[in-house]
Amino acid sequence: MNLNKHYNAIVVGLGGMGSAALYHLAKRGSNALGIDQFEIPHALGSSHGLTRIIRLAYYEDLSYVPLLRRSYELWAELEREFGEQLFYQTGSIDMGPAEGEVFRGSLRSCLENDFAHEVLDSRRLSLRFPGYRMPAQTMAVFQPQGGLLLPELCISAHAQLARHHGAEIHSGERVLGWEILADDRVALRTDAGRYIAEKLVICGGAWAYKLVPQLARVAVPERQALIWLAPKQPAWFGLERFPVWNAQVEEGRYYGLPEFNPSGETPGMKLGRYHHRGETCDPDSVDRALYEADEALLRGFAERYFPDGAGETLDMAVCMFTNTPDEHFVLDVLPGAPQVSVAAGFSGHGFKMASVVGEIMADLAQRGETRHDIALHRLARFRHLYHRGHRGEVSCSIKDSFSELADHP
Ligand SMILES: Cc1cc2nc3c(=O)[nH]c(=O)nc-3n(C[C@H](O)[C@H](O)[C@H](O)COP(=O)(O)OP(=O)(O)OC[C@H]3O[C@@H](n4cnc5c(N)ncnc54)[C@H](O)[C@@H]3O)c2cc1C
Repeated sequence: MNLNKHYNAIVVGLGGMGSAALYHLAKRGSNALGIDQFEIPHALGSSHGLTRIIRLAYYEDLSYVPLLRRSYELWAELEREFGEQLFYQTGSIDMGPAEGEVFRGSLRSCLENDFAHEVLDSRRLSLRFPGYRMPAQTMAVFQPQGGLLLPELCISAHAQLARHHGAEIHSGERVLGWEILADDRVALRTDAGRYIAEKLVICGGAWAYKLVPQLARVAVPERQALIWLAPKQPAWFGLERFPVWNAQVEEGRYYGLPEFNPSGETPGMKLGRYHHRGETCDPDSVDRALYEADEALLRGFAERYFPDGAGETLDMAVCMFTNTPDEHFVLDVLPGAPQVSVAAGFSGHGFKMASVVGEIMADLAQRGETRHDIALHRLARFRHLYHRGHRGEVSCSIKDSFSELADHP
């Protein structure tokens, strides 16, 4: 037990975001400790499942584009330093009705940022990429720089290189509470010890509200299911002919990726539905079983829109989103506790930006500010929801700070 061992910074949670934050802190020479309750990486949070979409055409909000550009740069730097391929370029397709937010927003993002792109109607989409069979009125934006990341390998790369740069890593250790000391440092209590740090960085994923109870209504975990299907026409669903995609259809919003896994397990076309069956959950008791209703919902979509990809079900998995009310992130220092920063609420689209989130969290921990534009992701927009929640299980000592939030930039 390391009673009262002292660090410049402690990062809680070493998933997608926390492993990146620890890497940036360690690389800048900070004496940093990273703690995760599970192994690194693991399949019990939000960052497993072999592949994640990354794309520049961003319909969600134009202010993501500078963060995306920096994410691409940082993933490439990480690949060089780690020596293994983490990103595979496939191009990305964003499609839906001509007036829908996915098509219109992606097109706007390409036009305003001068990104290479092509607009395809559904007939030209199928001629170019024969796996796609969308309704006649569908319009699609193809952006060639889109692709996929290997999330487990990205986390391993960040964690291993953080250690190489001097960070200490504790896996299988659960944080039980934290408090601000009279001298403004932070004390952290775990099931294995107590640590002191000048700065605390909380990257707890679906558990964020347990680490910061005030987030109970701001960062809400939700059960997701995903499926891998054996393509009937494998040649149409590989990296070269099947761009990663986002689709807005009458059944909802779906996403998917080509058949690909370099390690050989679980090949198959992968897809999921945003907010799957709308099941909010407690991350410690989320239902990890998979049901016929989960499979039917995803297969039904695939059979209608990707019929040549919808062969036998090869595998399924449960994962968690952590949703904010507006589906933008939470990247901020805590009001009333400037030595504590939090990255949370990635609302099902955060992994691609984990590399820049790591840089931002290292900035916030070291300087309380960042050169990146994170105005969209500040806590102040949720001042009416940020409160001392009733579901928190971790004791922490920050003030109930409505008034400070109101003044927060
Ligand atoms: C099915 C699915 C598909 C997705 N697809 C995409 C995609 O294609 N593209 C994209 O950009 N994003 C995608 N996302 C979203 C993206 O994966 C997440 O936004 C991202 O992985 C969140 O990372 P995180 O670090 O916040 O959470 P996690 O990676 O889950 O990390 C949180 C960590 O905190 C640890 N922790 C929590 N509490 C404690 C404690 N008390 N003590 C110690 N450790 C603790 C946990 O063990 C965990 O390791 C998808 C998400 C899901 C679920």
